[in-house]
Amino acid sequence: MDIFLKLGWYFREQWRRYVVAGLLLIIVDVLELSIPWLVGRLIDGVVARSLDSQRLMSYVISVLVLAVLIYIMRFLWRMFLFSASFQLAERLRQQVYQHLTLMAPGFYNKHRTGDLMARATNDVTAVEMTAGEGVLSGLDGLVTGILVLAVMMITVSWELTLVALLPFPLMAWFFFVIGTRLHDGFRDAQERFSDLNDKVQESVSGIRMTRAFGREVREDADFMRVADRAAEANMRVAATDSLYDPAIFITVGVSFMVSIAMGAWLIEQDRITLGQLTSFTMYLGYLIWPMFAYGWLLNLVERGSAAYARIIALLDARSPVQDDGTRVLAANVDIHWQVNAFEYPGANSTALSNINLRVAQGQTLGIVGATGAGKSTLISLLLRYYDHDSATVSIGGDSVKSYTLESLRGMIAVVPQDAFLFTASIAQNIALGCPEATIEQIRAAARLASVEQDILRFPAGYDTLVGERGVTLSGGQKQRIAIARALLMDTPILVLDDALSAVDVSTERNILSHLKEARQGRTTIILCHRLSAVEEADQIVVLSHGELKERGTHTSLLQAKGWYARMFDYQKLEQAVASGR
Ligand code: ADP
Repeated sequence: MDIFLKLGWYFREQWRRYVVAGLLLIIVDVLELSIPWLVGRLIDGVVARSLDSQRLMSYVISVLVLAVLIYIMRFLWRMFLFSASFQLAERLRQQVYQHLTLMAPGFYNKHRTGDLMARATNDVTAVEMTAGEGVLSGLDGLVTGILVLAVMMITVSWELTLVALLPFPLMAWFFFVIGTRLHDGFRDAQERFSDLNDKVQESVSGIRMTRAFGREVREDADFMRVADRAAEANMRVAATDSLYDPAIFITVGVSFMVSIAMGAWLIEQDRITLGQLTSFTMYLGYLIWPMFAYGWLLNLVERGSAAYARIIALLDARSPVQDDGTRVLAANVDIHWQVNAFEYPGANSTALSNINLRVAQGQTLGIVGATGAGKSTLISLLLRYYDHDSATVSIGGDSVKSYTLESLRGMIAVVPQDAFLFTASIAQNIALGCPEATIEQIRAAARLASVEQDILRFPAGYDTLVGERGVTLSGGQKQRIAIARALLMDTPILVLDDALSAVDVSTERNILSHLKEARQGRTTIILCHRLSAVEEADQIVVLSHGELKERGTHTSLLQAKGWYARMFDYQKLEQAVASGR
């Protein structure tokens, strides 16, 4: 039950709603209990032959009025209670979402997407049910139980009530045993659900690969295995949970038996009337609900506390990169990388070593090298996706750690190789970083990225819907839309991370010449395979196995006759062959 203590902060905040709901509930329960009392009086009237038609009508009308009142008030108190629990779910989801947005990539390398999604959806729903239906069952069960017992004792007989209660302690012990098993069962079921979520996410993302490699049958079998494990875990929970009902029915059955036996004896002794015994057995019937409510409460509490523990574990996870800088935007954006050795968390080889690289404000830096050479890692350090003791990157003479993450990342626009487009119009996708941009500004950025012609060819132009549910764009169109998006932000530093790989050489040339003009005085960093993209750069560095092997300008590197010169000749030849010359 300590889940209610853990959620205490929310109950304290929303105490008004819970108090109003509780008061309405008590009134409803009192009204409900007056129905058996009325029925008992009616029966006694029949037995004593003192009931006339007018009295009968007044009993019937009273029961009807009570039923309508109960209906309305039950509706009201559930409204108060459930609106509070839905708000709790919303708050928890917001907290989880905000937390996830603050996490550095190192966190996502460690956590599986499906598991994170399960915590934000399934587990939050379980906690919501504890704060809604759990409180409902607990409160309703408790109030009804106490009132029924009090009424039984006062209006019928306290001895009979005590006798009727004899089988109940046994049931309470049984409930306790089931509750402990349920907790473990729920924890297991929630973990299996995470696995299942993960598998679904992976299968959907990798569906093309599955088809391309004809792995459908094997993927199916894998999926069935994970789904089976989740189903088994849920079956175990259901099996444990189903032990409650028989226990309740047996307890109440035994209770009925002993009460009727003792009640008959009490009638014979003239200590209670037949009408009182009838009311008493009706009251006993009312005790079934509190028992069910208690069983349901235990179920919800165990489910909710297992889920809450998983949500708190997620919220307690600290980002590997802390937002502890205080400085905001630098006027001078000279960049300086000093890396003795950098390895990714958990990796056992260095991704970068012995790097000392400067780029002055307004310059264009080209970083080239084979796949896996460490180009993107340099940018990850610049964006402070990872912190490392022997890797320092400074902007304007100050370490990137001294800036707030927001201002640091606000200084840099990055266009990745595989740009992601959201389900929105092309205009909205371009304006992602500056939603207030006018259509004219958006079009200007699209022109700079040489993508306007393509956009105008779509049926709805800039209003064409793209993303998962929209039209499908080619890789090159996506890349250029992403470039337009970055250009619109007009940040002091622009990074193109192999962002021109899917556009042809002449479009690449157009874009680069537009960039040169539009980004005077601002820094541009181009990472690429195709050397034609960096020919005009002020400085070019060649990375190999995480180390800086060559540096210079296009001309000086060609003269040096190293990797760059060889690669340039090779690519020129390749291009000539491709164009048939
Ligand atoms: P490039 O951009 O030149 O293709 P990267 O900077 O992406 O190269 O990668 C450099 C090295 O770091 C590679 O050996 C790669 O396997 C490794 N690496 C990249 N990202 C991670 C990561 N998140 N975790 C562990 N190792 C990584």
